[in-house]
Amino acid sequence: MKQLTRVVSTTPRNILDIRFWPTDICNFNCEYCFPGSVLNINKFPKNIETVIKNFRILLDEYQKSHNKDFFRIDIAGGGEPTLWPYLNDFCIEIKKFHNVAIKLTTNGSRKTEWFEKNTKHIDKFSLSCHYKEVDISRYIQNCDYLWERGSRVGALLVMDAQHWDQCLKLLDEMLRSKHSWPIQAKEVVDAPGLDFDSYTDKQKKFFTNPLKRIPDSKWILDNLNELNYYQSIAMFDNDEAEPAAPNHYISKLGNNFKGWKCSVAIENLVISHDGKITGSCQEEIFKDANLSLFSEDFEEKFNRAKLDLQSIICPRNCCSCQPDTHVSKQKI
Ligand code: SF4
Ligand code: SF4
Repeated sequence: MKQLTRVVSTTPRNILDIRFWPTDICNFNCEYCFPGSVLNINKFPKNIETVIKNFRILLDEYQKSHNKDFFRIDIAGGGEPTLWPYLNDFCIEIKKFHNVAIKLTTNGSRKTEWFEKNTKHIDKFSLSCHYKEVDISRYIQNCDYLWERGSRVGALLVMDAQHWDQCLKLLDEMLRSKHSWPIQAKEVVDAPGLDFDSYTDKQKKFFTNPLKRIPDSKWILDNLNELNYYQSIAMFDNDEAEPAAPNHYISKLGNNFKGWKCSVAIENLVISHDGKITGSCQEEIFKDANLSLFSEDFEEKFNRAKLDLQSIICPRNCCSCQPDTHVSKQKI
């Protein structure tokens, strides 16, 4: 049987992806929320000027040391980012000196008036739908509003094997919305009591095409670059290669890269609730592991710390987050 030996990301090399978790508070309580999030410990940074200044230092460093000139910042959770009171200020300021595109990943629970007031500087929206707490009418109204405004918006329906019918009902309601924004379904595979084997064969088949609605052909043509449906190329020991869709590695149980050489430090970062900067899977990439982007002495410490921009050796049995599975990596 052919063996996977390499994953090559399709993201251009000049782009750095950053997931930013500004808060660890959330108004929802999903059982499958990933461990370590929604701790309600750090709340959120209030020193917004320092946070922006330190962000700029970090972006400058990647620009200088790694020729990154385009930064995609995904403001996400766990924790609900729309609860960060400085979200709008951050989005305005961070675009002033760097080439930045901002995506907001939200549970879509705020009123439409909130979106009208606070999201003018956000380029793209992913509204995750959680069966237990979603107000589906408000959720759909928000998606429709963003669509009408001309923003790029997509629904991410989280499918829980144990509450399958409820999730399907939500899909049904979404499919009857006024506008045809894209809908993607996503399985929960790394939560207490839920892994890939929790799903029946019929449910697994449902994910062979996770895109449950795509808008018309004009939209597809307009968003061709953005779609990037195949997020990496999977390469095998027999010299074969195949394009990998978002859930390719997870659904085929090919997400154990322990001991592989991984480029997470130069492709995909996370800024977590306490300001710590790590690879997107939260692996350490700095020699000074206590560096916090939210701290007043970040600049002083950062200048001394050396960014380890080399590949790291993956220490984990499971690369569990979809975007992390597509980071470039090589078996050694
Ligand atoms: S909405 Fe998101 S962050 Fe909040 S509890 Fe659910 S999964 Fe966690
Ligand atoms: S868990 Fe982290 S280090 Fe390991 S392969 Fe995934 S992204 Fe790379």
